[in-house]
Amino acid sequence: MVGSQGLLRGALAWEQSDRPPVLFTGGIWAGRLSGFSRDRLLDDASALAEAQWRVHELIGQDALLAYFDPLFIPEAYGCELRFLETGPLVAPIPLTRFADQAPSVGDGRLPVVLEAVACMAARAGGRIPVGTLVEGPFTTLSRIADAEVLLRLTITDAAAVDAALGRMTEMLLAFCRAAAEAGADFVFVADPVASATMISPAMFGRFALPALRELCAGLSIPVILHICGDTTPILADMAGSGAAALSLDQCMDLREARRRIDGRCALAGNLDPMTLLMGTPEEVVRETRRVMEAGGNRGFILMPGCGVPPGAPFQNVAAMVRAVREG
Ligand SMILES: [Zn+2]
Repeated sequence: MVGSQGLLRGALAWEQSDRPPVLFTGGIWAGRLSGFSRDRLLDDASALAEAQWRVHELIGQDALLAYFDPLFIPEAYGCELRFLETGPLVAPIPLTRFADQAPSVGDGRLPVVLEAVACMAARAGGRIPVGTLVEGPFTTLSRIADAEVLLRLTITDAAAVDAALGRMTEMLLAFCRAAAEAGADFVFVADPVASATMISPAMFGRFALPALRELCAGLSIPVILHICGDTTPILADMAGSGAAALSLDQCMDLREARRRIDGRCALAGNLDPMTLLMGTPEEVVRETRRVMEAGGNRGFILMPGCGVPPGAPFQNVAAMVRAVREG
């Protein structure tokens, strides 16, 4: 039987398999389940790694992700972080301050995440893929400089946005390369602000895509790229970003997406996170089977359409993984 590492590698290489690998993002969900306090999960790499292991031992998902929230990068730039019931939020800083304070991989919580990668990779021993998660350059910059400010600047001073995106991409590359050195097998890049529901396809092609291309091209490990919402108008561009797989939202038709992408990269998705949050385990199993059928057994990773909601019942996430593993 092919193990988790083989399943993920095979899916990313567009190979046929008996079942798709199943994985999910949801650092806060896994953290809550672990019973560790938020402060420990933010500061203590062994707790962060242990939280993912506990979930894996209970549920058996095919990959582990070393992260709690994706905002450790803006935080390392000096943005203040607040945790609300709905998730973490950052207070933006002026772009002028951003220019001269690029953090290194030794700043903020970056060493904690990198150490968690190393812990998890050592324990996984190559059997289970270990990844980490960052937000894409455009989204990260919009968190740091404020989305509205950034979107206005794309019109009034495109050169300043290009320069800032260039520096942002360099910083993310440095972090992701350090994660690869620590043992990460892949990077999950979420770029929600680059969504076609947030910016026009032309703006995506002009600003977000070149930065994503640079990020993917600069890494020796594969990237799974997630962009929220209806990505139909930018799907062809996303397929040309250099990402090994595109993770799509639940509103997307996987068969149609596959047709448009035409074998250029793998697909991941797209079980409705609301079913995980509000549904019964039986409904989750039905939804998982529907998605598996749409995704097929080649170049496909089963995931929720977005992250696992922090309040999703354990039984529902377990039912999703079990339905995939049992076929
Ligand atoms: Zn999403």
